[in-house]
Amino acid sequence: MSAAFEALAGRWQTFVGKVEQRLGEVMAEAEVGLDEVIAAEVVDPGPLSQAIQVVRARLHGLSQKVDESWDKIDGEIDAILEPMDVGPDWEALQAKRSALRRAGWGLREKIDLQVEIFRVKKEADAARALWAIVEKEMTEERTCERCGVTLRPGILRAPTSFPCPSCKAVHALRPGLAAAMFFQGGKVHSLAEETALGAWMELRIEEKRYQALRHPADEDRARFEAATLAYWRAYCAAYARHDPAWTPEHVEKEIAGRMGQFRAFDSEADTRGRMGEILRLAKAGDAAGATRVAAARGDLAGSFASDAAEAAIERGDRAAATLLLGVQFDLERPGDPKSAWIKERLAETTKWLASMKT
Ligand SMILES: [Zn+2]
Repeated sequence: MSAAFEALAGRWQTFVGKVEQRLGEVMAEAEVGLDEVIAAEVVDPGPLSQAIQVVRARLHGLSQKVDESWDKIDGEIDAILEPMDVGPDWEALQAKRSALRRAGWGLREKIDLQVEIFRVKKEADAARALWAIVEKEMTEERTCERCGVTLRPGILRAPTSFPCPSCKAVHALRPGLAAAMFFQGGKVHSLAEETALGAWMELRIEEKRYQALRHPADEDRARFEAATLAYWRAYCAAYARHDPAWTPEHVEKEIAGRMGQFRAFDSEADTRGRMGEILRLAKAGDAAGATRVAAARGDLAGSFASDAAEAAIERGDRAAATLLLGVQFDLERPGDPKSAWIKERLAETTKWLASMKT
């Protein structure tokens, strides 16, 4: 049985290594190809976005292969583990399976991350190439038609009324093509995204961590929210550095708006977040307190205690889970002896959570 498992593990590790190698090749090719595209066409964003789509599609295909291969191997592992009882042997193989699954997730995440970082960096490269033309445009002289002095309006983001400093005649000036493309074609966004990449990666980790929890608690949500705020701060500060229209007030308003969206979107998780209190009590060994919190749920008291026990197992806290199953037992009074019932529920839930694919 163990030999069959080891054979599967070996197959999986070989596959992961091959995909890693292929990923490196695809990225190296893409790097050269995209630099050529950016050098050839600076103003029209079409060719770059098409080239990025091609890279994205290739890497998506690679990701899919990882998923498909894991599903197949995981199914074969299931066949080995399914007939076994929960015990040291089962737990050992289960831990090995988790490590194999994490290697697959890690690889898929690496692919997703690389394609996204690549896109951001290349779009920022393109924005810088365009900015060089904007600067050239700015040095082009404009002359007042009435008195003939040179006008120096600086960077024009949009059509602007500009009074001649000498004769005061008002000129309707239009931005040059490159400036118009830069400010209205999302180039500032590209540069801000690049500057905020580090904060974005932190946010991505927190978001994935949060979403992977079946029962998020208050502090989990607070972590996710803090990472979201850090990202928007980094992004908006960078945006303001490249766009004179973004005043400090505008930046604050933008951040407030983004966080408003975050909170509105997360209102459902807000109620789930109340799991925090009962988990803290269980962790502190306060069975009476945990019972009080669960009992406040009325008819749902037993299932709430059960969910909380699941949440404790999810966090690897078997002591808290045992306490919470005890609370559930006292609330629901199933027929079996208490300790045997708790032991069985603990094993069942552990097995069930381990079998969850996502
Ligand atoms: Zn003039």
